[in-house]
This record gives sequence, C-alpha cells and structure tokens, in this order.
Amino acid sequence: MRGTFSLGAVAGVPVRAHWSVLGLAALIVVLLGDAVLPRAVPGLARGQYWSTAVVGGCVFMLSLLIHEMAHALVARWCGLKVGSITVWGLGGYTEVEEKAKNPRVELVVAAAGPLASVALGGLGFLVLMIIPGKSLTASAVTWLSSMNLLIGAFNLLPGAPLDGGRVLHGLLWWRFKDRSRADRASARAGHFVGTTLVAAGLFGTVFAGWLGGLWLVLVGWFIVAAARQELTVTIASAGLRGMLVREVMTADPDRAPAWMTVGEFIGKTALTSRQSIFPVVDLTGAPIGSVTLAALMAVPRQSRGVTRIDALPTRRPVRAVEAGGEATELLQPAGGQLIAVVEAGVLVGMVTAADLDRIVGQAILRAGPDTAD
Ligand SMILES: [Zn+2]
Repeated sequence: MRGTFSLGAVAGVPVRAHWSVLGLAALIVVLLGDAVLPRAVPGLARGQYWSTAVVGGCVFMLSLLIHEMAHALVARWCGLKVGSITVWGLGGYTEVEEKAKNPRVELVVAAAGPLASVALGGLGFLVLMIIPGKSLTASAVTWLSSMNLLIGAFNLLPGAPLDGGRVLHGLLWWRFKDRSRADRASARAGHFVGTTLVAAGLFGTVFAGWLGGLWLVLVGWFIVAAARQELTVTIASAGLRGMLVREVMTADPDRAPAWMTVGEFIGKTALTSRQSIFPVVDLTGAPIGSVTLAALMAVPRQSRGVTRIDALPTRRPVRAVEAGGEATELLQPAGGQLIAVVEAGVLVGMVTAADLDRIVGQAILRAGPDTAD
C-alpha cells in the first residue's frame, strides 16, 4: 500500500500505518468526546470528555493492533512467513507471505484476529466489575468493549477479505478436501455478503439518514471486488493447470542491455520493437529490472548519449520465475509491470501485464463451463 509510514516493530513483526489511519483515530476521538461520553455522563467539563476520548482513541487503535498481532503471531507459530502489519482507515491488514498449506492452518490464522477482539471485549466487561459504574472511565470502557465485540463479530462475516471469508474457506476446504471447489464456493459467499452490505448501507444512508451506512457500502464494495478477483484467479488456475510458464510466456523478447546508452538502445531496438516495456539484462543475461518507453522519453535528448540503461530509475527489481515452473505461479500478485522468465538464471522470456490479461482470458476460455459448479 502506498503512503504508509513505519511505526516500528512488535515481536519482530514490522508495523506500518497508512495516513488514512489518522482519519479513523480522529473519528473515534470525536465520536467519544462529542457524543458517547457526554451522553453517558452529562454535566462534566468539556476538557474531561476530550481527555478521556483521546485515551480511549489510543486504546481503540491498540486493540486493532492486537487483533492484527494475533493473526501475525499465530501465522508465524504455524510456520508461515509474516511480512508486516499495516493499520489503515478501514482497520488493519496482516501480510502473510505464504498461502496456508492446509485448511487447519488457514482456519486458525483467520480466526485468531476476531477471537482476540472478542477476548478484549470480554476482558473489558470484566474490568467494568471493579470500576465504579457511572464514571467517565466506565463509560469509555463499556463503549470500547462493545466495539471490540462488534469488530470481532463483523470480521467473522463470511466474505474475504474479512477474516470470516478465510474461516469459511478453511472450513469448506476441510469439508470438500478440494481447494479450488472451496475457492469458488467462498468467492460466491463473499459476493453475496458484499452485495448485502452495499444494499444495507445504501438503504441505511438514503432512508434512515445514517452516515455510517456509507462505510458499510465501502466495505461491501471491497468484498465484492475481492470475491470477483478470487473467482477469476480460481477459474484461470483451473485452465492453466498442467501448463508450464514456457508455454504461455512471450519468448525471446527484445532486451535492454544494462551497459548500453539510452541513445544506442533507442536507435537499435526501441524504435522498431513491438514492445513498450523491456527487461533489462546484465552481462550474464540475467534480468535485473525493466524499462518502459515512458522511462526512455523522460531522458532529455542531449543526455541520451551518456545515460546508461542501468542508470534509469527502473521501478522495482522484476519478479523472476522459472520457465519450467507451473503457469499458475503467474497468477500470484506480481510486484511490478513485468515478470521475467529465466532458465538457469538467464532471461528467456517475459510476461507483461497485457500478457497476463491474455493468459487469464485464454485460461478461462480453456477451463470451460465444467469448472462452474
Ligand atoms: Zn482480522
């Protein structure tokens, strides 16, 4: 996600925040300080409400972080590689770099977050037994505990990317013993949950004037988009099964030698090539990046003769896959515009974003109607 900044690390897991999280924190503080607390304990000074609200806001953000830490730590405990945790305007996100190898792992990793939220909510209500009933603190704790229970319950709705979507997928995978059938069934459930949330949110906003409904519309829309993406990947995987990267790649593309000057490369290759993106290779023929026509255009005419290809700001190092690997590997989210295909470390082909569209389209055509159960 772009626009994130580091908050340090907890238990060795890097924690990042997207700027939109400030909006969420502000919203919580205003909600507590301006509405929830004054209504629960009327007649106090404004400063008292706001100072409690700020502490409450911090505790709320902390509880979101604990939810994500639960996912991260359980994933690591199950032997999965955890990337980082990001908190943003709609909650949190834990990046697990590997897919679960069996349904049990998927189930426990997904369930850990909502269970942590529910446990925090329960803990809050236990704390309420020892603090006086009508105080500001008690009201804040009541609200925070209810929110944690709500977050736990909401996240269990069976639509990915909500945790419940993964829980459902794990359960179906366990029951069907067939991962792609579980993929399709849970994508359909996600589509249903997402559409329902959008409809409920719109209804609430239009007919009840409830502004929180817009948030439901947004979350619902995310779920529908994720379900559609999941379904595409699932059907395309079925169509690609048994095929190798070599069979679907663009073989022997025009390359941009790292040591060549921009001027030389434009004259020799770029002007006559049918490509708009070129893999950059070093002296051994290994891919070390990519360069686009746009990047070449950005070099002023007078510096073309002295600027080398490897001095151009190439986006990020390209992802390399083996030519003999399974074509379904290409469907994993790529880290750039170009996937380099290698054999013994040497570039032999490439897959661009446009290639990927074609490959997915052909795979869906090939998969045929028998995959839609
Ligand atoms: Zn979660």
